Amino acid sequence: MPAQIANHYIGGKLVPEAAGGESLRLENPATGEEFGISPMSSTEMADRAVAAAASAYRDWSETPVGDRVQCLFRYKQILEDNINDVADIVVQEHGKTKAEAIGSVRRGIDCIEFASAAPVLMMGRTLPQIAVSTSFCRTEDEGGVGIDSQVDRVPLGVCVGITPFNFPVMVPMWMWPMAVACGNTFVLKPSERDPFSTLREFELTKDAGFPDGVLNLVHGGPDVAKRLITHEDVRAVSFVGSTGVGESIYKTASGSGKRVQCMCGAKNHSIIMPDANRGAAVEGVLGSAFGNTGQRCLAGSVVVCVGDSGDWFVPALVEAAKGIKVGRGDEQGVSMGPLVSREARDRVAGFIESGVSEGADLILDGREGEMPSSGCFLAPTVFDRATPEMRIVREEIFGPVLTIMRAKTLEDAVEQVNRSEYGNMAVIFTDSGHAARRFQRTAQAGMLGVNVGVPAPMAVFPFAGWKKSFFGDLHANGEDAVRFYTESRVLVTRWL
Ligand code: NAD
Repeated sequence: MPAQIANHYIGGKLVPEAAGGESLRLENPATGEEFGISPMSSTEMADRAVAAAASAYRDWSETPVGDRVQCLFRYKQILEDNINDVADIVVQEHGKTKAEAIGSVRRGIDCIEFASAAPVLMMGRTLPQIAVSTSFCRTEDEGGVGIDSQVDRVPLGVCVGITPFNFPVMVPMWMWPMAVACGNTFVLKPSERDPFSTLREFELTKDAGFPDGVLNLVHGGPDVAKRLITHEDVRAVSFVGSTGVGESIYKTASGSGKRVQCMCGAKNHSIIMPDANRGAAVEGVLGSAFGNTGQRCLAGSVVVCVGDSGDWFVPALVEAAKGIKVGRGDEQGVSMGPLVSREARDRVAGFIESGVSEGADLILDGREGEMPSSGCFLAPTVFDRATPEMRIVREEIFGPVLTIMRAKTLEDAVEQVNRSEYGNMAVIFTDSGHAARRFQRTAQAGMLGVNVGVPAPMAVFPFAGWKKSFFGDLHANGEDAVRFYTESRVLVTRWL
């Protein structure tokens, strides 16, 4: 069967890509089999999607919020009913294990549930009798008419989302459910690497009763993204992806007068104290470093062992990492899938090479681990005794490579955390409340964890990256998202 070209979803319809345009051929990263074609569309297709969103905006923003969230209630159920099929598409084009794919869709469903609370979240505030006026009116008994004031939260208009490959279903749901619950309309440009999962997510919105044009999806690469973020009819831009791209999107979109939030790259640290619960520390770091094949912005890719904790932590961690079964995501018993593409695999292998040449101890070499011979596989890799100037310590690898450093004290370990130009997350494993509190008050990262490997916030809390992990003021999710997707409108009233 010839490989299918991903359709766009515009104005409630599947729109085929125009013939003869540029495209990217997609392979299943576990098998190397070609399964689809990602259209690298023209800017005209982006304009068409924005036009559909703009024409749907007026009616949708006037639809009572209680009616708008009915679509989200229905959508949640539809997604629950289709979770297996959606997860299968994620496994096929991204390579995650089935359990990881289902887990990621579930985290997206959390966002739908949170956005369904929009009738409460969007409420304004009032302050009656904020002043008394004595001009232009007869006195009201003793003299003066009361003035009331209120602030409402109102939608912005057309909002745009640009998303990465690593969570093709969940990350778009950090954006569109809250955006449309607040009365905006939306255009998404998903990653060109795994467009079919996100397309399925959008197709299902039709059955939930969202009016045509409220949700639109256009495929493509940087050209389409750049058109969307500067389009005169777009009011807000949400981006998730690498730091270089995010920083440039932030500058361009904010320079074009848009409200912008860019959630970006990361280099996350886990501190192991000598008094930590050993089992919890090893299990927590293992899941954090190698879950999703290391391809997540909350991956704990650097460990700092304090004092003599390395003596027990490092051998136990390596033993556990050897037990990870690498293979196809749809195979029973597999706990780690392939990297997303050949280029990604080669890039990560390049980092392993650089760690060796810079002098770190390669104590588990993922290039030689047990794994299928075809596909984009690398087994877990562990470096020990790395030093701060090495690339494997400073740069985001985005693959199954864990780098271990040693520190004498907690203060030295926190200094390692704070050296990083990124500030997404950091965790500590300890039995000491004092150490945990010192860490909590001094580590410079926006998402902290104590005795947990991945401190991923539930949707009611913001996804709070700092430093070069975030550009903007208001984060995704939590109350930040409500403020991001609404404008404040203040009303001052005097009845004469
Ligand atoms: P990427 O930056 O390559 O691509 C992200 C999106 O930007 C894609 O849709 C892509 O088409 C588009 N894009 C790429 N180059 C562009 C350009 N020059 N101009 C405009 N748009 C462009 O990221 P990726 O490889 O898909 O995803 C991995 C990155 O995402 C990692 O750095 C990871 O840490 C980050 N990420 C961050 C978070 C977070 O919340 N902080 C969450 C998930 C992923």
